[in-house]
Amino acid sequence: MARAMPTKEDSPSRYTPRSRKVRILATLGPASDTPEMIRRLAEAGADAFRINMSHGNHADHERRIASIRALESELQRPTTILADLQGPKLRVGKFAGDKAELKAGQAFTFDRDEASGDAKRANLPHREIFDAVHPGTRLLVDDGKLVFRVTRVSEERIETKVEVGGTISNNKGLNVPDVVLPLAALTEKDRADLAFALDQGVDWVALSFVQRPEDVAEARRLIGGKANLLAKIEKPAAIERLEGILELADAVMVARGDLGVELPPEEVPPLQKRIVEGARRMGRPVVVATQMLESMINSPSPTRAEVSDVATAVYDGADAIMLSAESASGQYPCEAVEMMNRIATSAEADPTHYARVHFTETLPDATTNDAIARAASGIVRTVGAAAIVCFTSSGSTARRVARERPTVPLLVLTPSLKTSRRLGILWGAHAVRTRDVHSFEEMVGKSKRMALRHGLAKGGDRIIVTAGVPFGVPGSTNVVHVARLIGDELERHSEG
Ligand code: PEP
Repeated sequence: MARAMPTKEDSPSRYTPRSRKVRILATLGPASDTPEMIRRLAEAGADAFRINMSHGNHADHERRIASIRALESELQRPTTILADLQGPKLRVGKFAGDKAELKAGQAFTFDRDEASGDAKRANLPHREIFDAVHPGTRLLVDDGKLVFRVTRVSEERIETKVEVGGTISNNKGLNVPDVVLPLAALTEKDRADLAFALDQGVDWVALSFVQRPEDVAEARRLIGGKANLLAKIEKPAAIERLEGILELADAVMVARGDLGVELPPEEVPPLQKRIVEGARRMGRPVVVATQMLESMINSPSPTRAEVSDVATAVYDGADAIMLSAESASGQYPCEAVEMMNRIATSAEADPTHYARVHFTETLPDATTNDAIARAASGIVRTVGAAAIVCFTSSGSTARRVARERPTVPLLVLTPSLKTSRRLGILWGAHAVRTRDVHSFEEMVGKSKRMALRHGLAKGGDRIIVTAGVPFGVPGSTNVVHVARLIGDELERHSEG
């Protein structure tokens, strides 16, 4: 079981809140998993860490998680851990001599014979595909480098014509973008990995190759509230059911790697916009992922196009941007995080940033929570304020305020360690675990004190506070209050 962060209530944070609003999610791997490297990544700007269950074993992951929690405890800053399940990754079988050369136009058969493949046939160890494909369906192998078009199907064989040839080799990945495959949302491996991850106390679980809202519902049942659930959008089928998936997931990821295999790459940018926009409208955190600074796997500086890609995700108003191999197995993990931090900071400092982010209209739902969130954001615009302070137990109010994409940081005060850890991928949120308040005076006093302590406000500044009265009742946000920090209070608070 994971250790709880031994937070001294209200103790001063050694961690200055980031001025940057967009969050950085860094994947850990062999290049970055020593305690020293994890600390350097956090110092360089990583707000959350991704444990990729497709690589490494449980002992590796356990060590990484323990290092993150040790750092969290030392820095007194809630830190987010996301365990990314591999999902139903499909693979072709093995080949005699490990590979075969295929030419465009030739016939090729995938079958259920476990014998090694050759230039005419290969084993396909996934029964479900035989039931789902039909003449005309495309099979893509090795990230879409080889393309096959189905010509005939039986229970034992899928006959195809090779449309794009090349070298096919042992256990290469297979994508079937044109049909919904009758696959369970979680494989046996995923279930074992999920049990392990929950036992380790991870904050988020990412579900790969989601096809339907039902996949999300099934994973949710298995997770049983022990972690939040992020649905990776990487299949055309998921795009078709995006609203339903957004409804059930706690967050989504634009998983551009597989999305760009299953769909022509030119379709990915408009889909990125659509997914980010849809998620923002529904108040679900959205992560933009994959190849953001790909060239930094081997080079200390990125291409100009990659810099532009990261900035675009920031201007789109994504909650978080992710590094994969750049931080997990590349030669320059810290430099990649630093670079991402610099690009995001620069884009957010652009005077047009606010208008660009607000190009997406996020109309409030007819709820008290949304009315309060909108009011808080409006007050910041009307009278100016240094921060919005948000009391929340589940984090839901924080998500609704962040959905407004206010110009100022969001200081989230919560008694729940779980909630504080889950907020590391939320736009602009700085979560602090602290005791609940029981009166209006306490609420105002604590808000001022914490805003000062965390460097988010100074004497003379206004802060906007949102909370629920009666205090301590979840889901009751109904108060928005404007407070001003004045000089003598400042002195008293800094002493206390
Ligand atoms: C992706 O495909 O973009 C992705 C994030 O998934 P993975 O890295 O697990 O392949």
